[in-house]
Amino acid sequence: MAIAEAVKTYQNYIGGEWRDAENGATLEIHDPGNGELVYRAPNSPVEDAGRAVDAAKYAAENTDWGDNPHARATALYKLAQALRSSTDWLAPLLTREGGKPLSVSRAEVLRASDAIEYYAGLARNVYGRSTMLAPDSLAILLREPIGVVSIIVPWNMALSLLTRSLAPALAAGNAVIIKPSSVTPGATAEFVAMIDAIPEFPRGVVNLVVGPGSTTGAELVRHPDVDMVAFTGDTGTGKEIMRMAADTLKKVGLELGGKSPNIVFADADFDRAVRGALNGASMFHAGQVCIAGSRVLVEESIHDRFVDKLAELTKRMRLGHGLQEGVQAGPVINEGQLNRVMGYIEVGKSEAELLTGGQRATEGELAKGFFIQPTIFDRVPVNATIAQDEIFGPVLSVLTFRDEEDAAEVANSTVYGLAAAVWTSDITRALRVAKKVKSGLVWVNTFGKLFAAGEMGGYKQSGIGRQYGLEGLWEYTEMKHINVQL
Ligand code: NDP
Repeated sequence: MAIAEAVKTYQNYIGGEWRDAENGATLEIHDPGNGELVYRAPNSPVEDAGRAVDAAKYAAENTDWGDNPHARATALYKLAQALRSSTDWLAPLLTREGGKPLSVSRAEVLRASDAIEYYAGLARNVYGRSTMLAPDSLAILLREPIGVVSIIVPWNMALSLLTRSLAPALAAGNAVIIKPSSVTPGATAEFVAMIDAIPEFPRGVVNLVVGPGSTTGAELVRHPDVDMVAFTGDTGTGKEIMRMAADTLKKVGLELGGKSPNIVFADADFDRAVRGALNGASMFHAGQVCIAGSRVLVEESIHDRFVDKLAELTKRMRLGHGLQEGVQAGPVINEGQLNRVMGYIEVGKSEAELLTGGQRATEGELAKGFFIQPTIFDRVPVNATIAQDEIFGPVLSVLTFRDEEDAAEVANSTVYGLAAAVWTSDITRALRVAKKVKSGLVWVNTFGKLFAAGEMGGYKQSGIGRQYGLEGLWEYTEMKHINVQL
């Protein structure tokens, strides 16, 4: 007889100790692809947030973490290695808690470890400058850690979104509190256990608190001993974070929503552009990706041929549980998200032409999960709700444009500015349009490529600050000017 595998219960990690939530409360995390219970996690009250801040502050002030770049580099290199070598067992957990296909989870673990490795290299390069300001005045400009940083992340890419903030924050010498989404905290807890096993991380430099954003998360923003909040999530929540942070005037880094345009000119490599539009829409993760190219802008002259091919490829996508071989697209995260996305699809039916999809997918095993057919709307007006709002679901809007001017205007017609792509065989046109598009990252003839060494971030309401690259490191530093009279 098979023995049922025990369901794990994760804990918080505060000051180097694993603890249950102060009030003993737990959450149950279910697999969005089949409804099974995957694990339990703490549902911590605000008191746990306070304890974690105290532990981080103590570590920031009483260890040599901030002044020991060699130890930081070693710790981060070991962490990158530990994470990479865990891919085979950690990626399936990411899939079970978040729903994405296993190949996407594997790529996420590798991207996360790559970011840690990149910032391990930079930990010994947190250089300032020095210069003569006057014949008798020497300026030493030191980059120092900010102090205690709360890192609050969403559920859709729990590990890669965490590590692109965590790695530079640690490389710069800060102490941190991690607040994962209560929807997907398990892989994060496993990751923190890797940190616990690396002796170069002083106790208290990394803390983990799992609890509701509106209370425990808010405490990690408001607390006077938190010096910076690095937040990734919804634009509305980002605005709330900024308002809360204003009371203590702490620094905020915000990586928020998007409605990224994929702009396809008639002279583009047709097949690559169609595939790029489909991949860009992130149907593989049911569209739940902040940079998703959820608007495709097609030059009018190739519109009909383009949408025919796009619909054909979309209909062929295989939906299913992310651990199943050959599955290309997973479920949305939970029932709330399912209802929200289906609501947008209903709105879309009154605003535009439904090209394919438009229904919840319930055939066979799919009925057990939150699956929605990959959906494309055509002839979407620029101001339609489905062309303006971030749906965060498998819904793609196709719009058309006449010329370069028109393309840039349509691309810039939302409040967002996270990412964009231009498809054309004319490189000067690509650069002209890329310059006009108000967005932190513009790809040419590709979509979705991210690099630890390449900055990204939001224009307009997609955020404040930059992630990845050198700029991503400077976000987590204060600049101190020491002025010497000679
Ligand atoms: P939310 O903004 O709802 O939540 C993000 C995190 O913030 C969660 O950990 C949540 O906790 C916490 N939180 C919620 N309310 C508060 C609050 N008042 N104070 C402090 N913390 C709070 O986003 P989702 O989790 O729903 O993620 C989806 C959104 O994230 C989309 O809009 C997407 O575009 C955006 N995103 C942006 C990215 C970028 O790089 N720009 C990358 C990926 C996603 P809990 O869930 O536990 O309640």
